[in-house]
Amino acid sequence: MERVDCVVVGAGVVGLAVARRLAQAGREVVILEAADAIGTGTSSRNSEVIHAGLYYPTGSVRARLCVAGRAALYAYCAAHGVEHKRVGKLIVATDEAQLPRLAAIKAQAAANGVDDLHEISAAEAVVLEPNLRCIGALISPSTGIIDSHGLMLALQGDAEEAGAMLALLSPLNRTHRTADGFELEVGGAEPVRIACTTLVNAAGLGAWTVARSLEGFPANRVPPRVLAKGNYYALARGRSPFSRLVYPVPVEGGLGVHLTIDLGGQARFGPDVEWLAPEAYDRIDYAVDPRRANGFYGEVRRYWPGLPDDALVPAYSGVRPKLSGPGQPQADFQIQGPEAHGVPGLVNLFGIESPGLTSCLAIADEVASQLA
Ligand SMILES: Cc1cc2nc3c(=O)[nH]c(=O)nc-3n(C[C@H](O)[C@H](O)[C@H](O)COP(=O)(O)OP(=O)(O)OC[C@H]3O[C@@H](n4cnc5c(N)ncnc54)[C@H](O)[C@@H]3O)c2cc1C
Repeated sequence: MERVDCVVVGAGVVGLAVARRLAQAGREVVILEAADAIGTGTSSRNSEVIHAGLYYPTGSVRARLCVAGRAALYAYCAAHGVEHKRVGKLIVATDEAQLPRLAAIKAQAAANGVDDLHEISAAEAVVLEPNLRCIGALISPSTGIIDSHGLMLALQGDAEEAGAMLALLSPLNRTHRTADGFELEVGGAEPVRIACTTLVNAAGLGAWTVARSLEGFPANRVPPRVLAKGNYYALARGRSPFSRLVYPVPVEGGLGVHLTIDLGGQARFGPDVEWLAPEAYDRIDYAVDPRRANGFYGEVRRYWPGLPDDALVPAYSGVRPKLSGPGQPQADFQIQGPEAHGVPGLVNLFGIESPGLTSCLAIADEVASQLA
């Protein structure tokens, strides 16, 4: 049986960042990825926004890791030539009732240590973005966009340069506890067995399955799984009518139907929030229903009245690995190390939805410190 020091499960942006961090600290690392390429999961099905860290409750793991991760990510992108752009973001109120929400977001951001968010008047907002309609806005200069695949390739490159090994088409199926760590069953009909002392479960939507397949892992430490699909629509014709990201005030489960821009200058709208039925959790359908666009027109026209009829076409979708459902308060990231569950050498990452991309480098530091 092959024996290694650390195994990281999942080659999304989080698993790759963790593998890089541990390998650069001198640990021997193998990354197990079920798919035939890196980053085919949520890491390539998101808005590619570098979030400032405005909304998350003060003192939450999400607030802390987003703010730290954003600074680390901008520095990393600059040093490694990962394409990104600090385009900025407007959060807009479109009726009087929403103005207090803007004030609340500003206060929350300040409490999170984000000190560059400021209010602008509707007139100032329209000077910046002539196609916009609003009655008041906040502007976040430190919000940006990033090439998420370029980031993952850079993280993989760093990890491999520090000695990590990536094994594709290598699903972790079962884990047994041993006296000095874990014995993993990897792959299909004739599984390969690997022994390791450290195991990091960064399997994203698969993290619950990986944790449940770990022999003797306390069931009460596996949180409930809630999945919410987010659908995106693009403009059938033309470039983005805005040069900054435009967000309405947040809604339950997500940030509202917002407009983001990719690095090629194309606009996309979404993601919306489509709560999936538990029966669908293990056979996710990423197809985007063109009919859901009907609900987007009204939302988008609140801030962009010029959206033409029939302009929106299905683009792509992603699925949020959530820990709370409709009507419940937003749950925090759960990064569970040995102190939380009592299993030495194990870290489980649950509920790493947005802003997991922004936070990936800070999440990696957090995992390393929980293993130290
Ligand atoms: C709609 C949407 C929009 C978002 N927008 C943003 C945004 O703008 N900015 C931001 O910061 N964040 C955003 N996020 C969040 C961000 O995309 C995620 O937090 C991040 O990509 C999670 O990365 P991950 O590595 O944990 O998961 P994933 O990318 O899903 O990677 C997990 C990997 O594990 C593999 N795997 C699963 N099970 C096994 C197994 N048993 N054995 C081996 N491998 C396995 C999978 O194949 C997959 O490759 C968004 C998320 C969604 C859904």
